[in-house]
Amino acid sequence: MKICVMPGDGIGKEIVGQAVRVLMRVGEKFGIGFETEEALLGGAAIDATGSPLPEATVSMCKAADAVLLGAVGGPKWDTLDPSIRPERGLLGIRKALGLFANLRPACLFDELKHACYLRPDIVARGIDLLVVRELTGGAYFGEPKGIEKRDGEKVGFNNMIYSEHEIRRIAKVGFEAALKRRRKLCSVDKANVLDVSRLWREIVLEVARDYPEVELSHLYVDNAAMQLVRDPSQFDVIVTENLFGDILSDEASVITGSIGMLPSASLGEGNPGLFEPIHGSAPDIAGQDKANPLATILSVAMLLRYSSNDMAAPADAIEAAVQKTLSQGYRTGDIREEGCKLVGCTGMGDAVLANL
Ligand code: NAD
Repeated sequence: MKICVMPGDGIGKEIVGQAVRVLMRVGEKFGIGFETEEALLGGAAIDATGSPLPEATVSMCKAADAVLLGAVGGPKWDTLDPSIRPERGLLGIRKALGLFANLRPACLFDELKHACYLRPDIVARGIDLLVVRELTGGAYFGEPKGIEKRDGEKVGFNNMIYSEHEIRRIAKVGFEAALKRRRKLCSVDKANVLDVSRLWREIVLEVARDYPEVELSHLYVDNAAMQLVRDPSQFDVIVTENLFGDILSDEASVITGSIGMLPSASLGEGNPGLFEPIHGSAPDIAGQDKANPLATILSVAMLLRYSSNDMAAPADAIEAAVQKTLSQGYRTGDIREEGCKLVGCTGMGDAVLANL
């Protein structure tokens, strides 16, 4: 399997370095040959080529089976024109690969329960859910949009628009993800108010006929936001449109309390998926061997799980090794607690490797 690796900026090199060690080790263990090739993205690409997304990077990503990314950005490039900032590289590669589905798990490891923002009795029921967000449609991209003068005052407007095929393909990703998990899918919309949501619900129900094994439910987005804090244990997979998904996926991840622990996947059609931690490049701790590599290591587990149906076992092995490492008391600074074994980025990688 060919993996294009893009460390990016800040802590990117450190966390991706540990994740690649884990990838190689799991390859040895399960007899899978992984070949990695490094590509430039973000600030590192600007420094080397003047562009945050060089053409060579796009070709290398397209030629790979999957893409693993660290993070991009940092103060060094903050004063550049927005059109050539590091973030442009990230948006550009998502677009070039046609990544329309964003998968964000929010999982609370037993060992990190103290970091969760919710009441202990709610936390005790556990959190292990996945938000599947549509990434390329809805109000963020719909036309017409703009600010113009009408009747002597300015009006601003966007258009939350979805076509049937856009809803159908993201619904499928939701159902397929549910099949890999506990087989429950909750579709979130606002069908009591929005026409676009009525179509959303209609198409989701249509797709559901192909997935009789999955238990489907529907929630209005306002209720979903409340249920996420009231009892997140009720959710397995949530599928929703772009704007609702943006908000709900951040809500779901912040309640776990540990930004350094959360992976993500972005999937398209006919192109490799992109796998990355949800956090940024953490310039404040870059180069100090302090970063938590677990979100990136867990992104490798997602890479295996969502790139090929045969790789559930190595993905499970990585997740189990992370769990064991936490239960042995190993912590990086961001998740430290009293009595823990404080380690750096490399030390955490070593511990996960040993457990693999
Ligand atoms: P950030 O996520 O980089 O950092 C926020 C805080 O969390 C910092 O205190 C940081 O030290 C800490 N943190 C983040 N990841 C950590 C890890 N793995 N281990 C330990 N601590 C960790 O967000 P920010 O400070 O708002 O942004 C910094 C830069 O990252 C900016 O240039 C921003 O544009 C960029 N950014 C990139 C991405 C991406 O590449 N996907 C996402 C968000 C932000």
